[in-house]
Amino acid sequence: MTIGDAFDATVARFAEREALVVRHQQLRYSWQQLAEQVDNCARALLALGIEPGDRLGIWAPNCAEWCIAQFASAKIGAILVNINPAYRLSELEYALKQSGCGWVICAGAFKTSDYHAMLLELLPELASSQPGALASELLPQLRGVVSLCSAPPKGFLAWQDLQGRAAGTSPEALAERQAGLQFDDPINIQYTSGTTGFPKGATLSHYNILNNGYMVGESLGLTEHDRLVIPVPLYHCFGMVMGNLGCLTHGSTMIYPGDAFDPLTTLQAVAEEKATALYGVPTMFIAELDHPQRAEFDLSSLRTGIMAGATCPIEVMKRVIGEMHMSEVQIAYGMTETSPVSMQTGPDDDLELRVTSVGRTQPQLETKIVDEQGRVVPRGQIGELCTRGYSVMLGYWNNPAATAEAIDPARWMHTGDLAQMDENGYVRIVGRSKDMIIRGGENIYPRELEEFFFTHPAIADVQVIGIPDSRYGEEIVAWIKFHPGHHASEEELRAWCKARIAHFKVPRHYRFVDSFPMTVTGKIQKFRMREISIEELA
Ligand code: ATP
Ligand code: MG
Repeated sequence: MTIGDAFDATVARFAEREALVVRHQQLRYSWQQLAEQVDNCARALLALGIEPGDRLGIWAPNCAEWCIAQFASAKIGAILVNINPAYRLSELEYALKQSGCGWVICAGAFKTSDYHAMLLELLPELASSQPGALASELLPQLRGVVSLCSAPPKGFLAWQDLQGRAAGTSPEALAERQAGLQFDDPINIQYTSGTTGFPKGATLSHYNILNNGYMVGESLGLTEHDRLVIPVPLYHCFGMVMGNLGCLTHGSTMIYPGDAFDPLTTLQAVAEEKATALYGVPTMFIAELDHPQRAEFDLSSLRTGIMAGATCPIEVMKRVIGEMHMSEVQIAYGMTETSPVSMQTGPDDDLELRVTSVGRTQPQLETKIVDEQGRVVPRGQIGELCTRGYSVMLGYWNNPAATAEAIDPARWMHTGDLAQMDENGYVRIVGRSKDMIIRGGENIYPRELEEFFFTHPAIADVQVIGIPDSRYGEEIVAWIKFHPGHHASEEELRAWCKARIAHFKVPRHYRFVDSFPMTVTGKIQKFRMREISIEELA
């Protein structure tokens, strides 16, 4: 089955039920109304001459058009290229060039970024070209740019005008195109978050992401009565697969609270929409829990949700269960390269396992934990987590060397994450191998220290990193964010640590912050923290 076929099946089953609520655009669509938008857009894209396998970029924050473009491109077999809304000129150029986009859909502006201006700077010939007839030396494959703005500058094709072109293609032509697509065709290029460095383009098929969205929804027990608030970005698999495809495959309602994450609009969306489920990375849940107005919102409609994307602190999980009514909240683990989810806790797991582990391997997938020689380690020992099965990407787009490094000949995806598995198959993520600290010959896992700091009453969030040190090889630095109105001095924290943990684990340096360097997906970039700390402490 392709994503387009799954879409049609849901529309047939749940036509009148609410499909999509976009609060910042004041839009509400039933599945039938969404289908009208999607089919119209798909026919318009066909009229542009887009062939199966052509790349269609989308560079926009969360909005209704993102969702429409996702399903429309799947229906015509175009490969949707998700471009991070935070990208600036050089990253945009990289993504467009690397993926060879034929068309791009862009927002007008977002936060401090003027997308039109950036595109015109990259492609000065755009202003004097007819949409569809762009001839650029820099990006020879690019034929035109669609703008979500109602009155874009000359050279751009306005989204509304694109929709008007649907008349150029018959519904039969669309049906014929859709029927000719294969389940394992590539349908999406998603760039990884860029948490550890330069993002890589993971190429994913209908089969990869449709099944993963379905499995995630199954694990949550989603039905057509569920209403899911999606404050995570759509350009990332958390939003477009776990969110949009999780809902699509279960007839649940997708609710976008805003164009970018904001704790207040998220809490408002949950309360006013009577949402039953909520997604987020740990930093988002922390911001919601600590929001001064949280008590004003009735969150009692919530039942479940997912925390994922980075280590989920035990304290934060407990608070989400206790204070946000999310009694069935689950942790998921995965990566863009595996569509993304490969491990997930279940509602039946006991509370302790649900807050301390990432659960067990999802149905139809395999997991193993190996040492540096690739041998499976005994249960309980730390090693690199590997995943195999339907969800593993086709490869990195146009990068066979990186693909061969990540996926071995037996099709195991090597995640670069360190983990341990217990006797019953529950996995604990220890951290990224790149983030492990080796101080004076001792292996120190930042996660262990971070969990420890979370037990300090003044601390709201914490990140631990290692920086080079001439004496010990590496030294430990703790970046600490306090709860509003709380504080502790460096001396107090050091003494508190010394009384409770082995001396070699006590951080040497402390840095008090209001925020951490972050990707748009809300993930903390430890490599940036290292750069900053190294410079400051030099
Ligand atoms: P890049 O690969 O560009 O450095 P990234 O790895 O953050 O960025 P993603 O594919 O978005 O890009 O994230 C996958 C990674 O997120 C995993 O490899 C893992 O390190 C981390 N992760 C995801 N879920 C969890 C979780 N539940 N617990 C701990 N870590 C997690
Ligand atoms: Mg990664």
